[in-house]
Amino acid sequence: MNILILGSGGREHALAWAVMQNPKCDRLIVAPGNAGIASVAECAALDIMNPDAVVDFAQNHSVDFVIVGPEDPLAAGVADALRAAGILCFGPSAAAARLEASKSFTKEICDAANAPTAGYAHFTDLDAAKAYVEEQGAPIVIKADGLAAGKGVVVAMDIATALDALDDMLVGAFGDAGAEVVIEEFMEGEEASYFVLSDGKTVLPIGTAQDHKRAFDGDEGPNTGGMGAYSPAPVLSDEIAAKAIAKIVQPTIDEMARRGTPYQGVLYAGFMIKDGQPRLVEYNCRFGDPECQVLMMRLGAQALDLMLACAEERLAEAKVNWADDHAITVVMASNGYPGAYEKGSVIGGLDELPEDSSNMVFHAGTKAKGEQITAVGGRVLSVTARGASLAEARKRAYAMVERIDWPEGFNRTDIGWRAL
Ligand code: AMP
Repeated sequence: MNILILGSGGREHALAWAVMQNPKCDRLIVAPGNAGIASVAECAALDIMNPDAVVDFAQNHSVDFVIVGPEDPLAAGVADALRAAGILCFGPSAAAARLEASKSFTKEICDAANAPTAGYAHFTDLDAAKAYVEEQGAPIVIKADGLAAGKGVVVAMDIATALDALDDMLVGAFGDAGAEVVIEEFMEGEEASYFVLSDGKTVLPIGTAQDHKRAFDGDEGPNTGGMGAYSPAPVLSDEIAAKAIAKIVQPTIDEMARRGTPYQGVLYAGFMIKDGQPRLVEYNCRFGDPECQVLMMRLGAQALDLMLACAEERLAEAKVNWADDHAITVVMASNGYPGAYEKGSVIGGLDELPEDSSNMVFHAGTKAKGEQITAVGGRVLSVTARGASLAEARKRAYAMVERIDWPEGFNRTDIGWRAL
């Protein structure tokens, strides 16, 4: 098969790495890709937000299967356009991707599916929203309705912060994405993510993971896109995971089908777990980054078979071949991230690392400059390893981090601490 992956982050490098190992893959193109992806696949320039351009590209390159990495092209209808052109695609339609693109839509689906989640109300009017916050008290959670690149959620521990967030989201800098807000009850507990595939009917779990959002050790510092992750996440025990599927995920999939907008692709569900009960925090309609890196490290070549079964609506007969293993990824980011950082520093030591089925450095913000790899983004490398235990995987990942010579970058030294 000729396969096209859309995206350019550590997530897409991990997807490309797994797909390339499967003998079904004859040719792999990643658009736009990055310097690390270029070592496992062809990279091509393409406006992945333009559905017609993606269809043209796929047709011109005899692509049989397209895997969409990020959420924005999904919300823009890239999967719809590909399916309309008869090209097999992994990723939900724009209508189904609303499970991520609209917080109020997700709440409406949870209501209809009777799925446990935080109590909520939604507002477009600033005064009404403020009155509601005053009445409910803090802590309280304020969410901009649209896709806001992970920046649209404020967990307010006091009323003043909540009121400021409402000013920002309803009248301030947020523009369209903030024109509506969802105000939610604050949920206590421990968070974990569950990744499932759905072909519109069947749900197939492909792993649990936990990420570390804060920039610094001890979960301190500003929020980031994710500084590391590990899989499996012990907090999501088999029993709680089964409850989450039965009470939340399967009813969501059934409700989407009932509405004539079946959900096809990976569904990434974030749960808050307290007293053995999972409640939904949010859905995402794509793999998380860096969670994808640990999932792909554990699944390997079978990831392609599973994604194909999903796209071809054969998930009922698909099965994950589980190894009793653990994976961890440590993100190396440019000094200053998530604030301002310098671009162009040279990363040394990458050539001598052992890259095999248990050790990989996935690239995010890198660019090749002659023979050298330079850092051009905030999150730059995702150093990923697998082992028989989380402790072993962690030791391997940090051994690689040690050998990477990049004084202009930093990483957390405590990824996985909660599970260890
Ligand atoms: P979201 O983008 O909806 O996942 O929100 C980002 C983060 O905010 C989550 O990962 C949680 O840590 C936190 N969060 C969101 N909603 C709630 C809630 N209702 N109660 C407590 N924390 C929340």
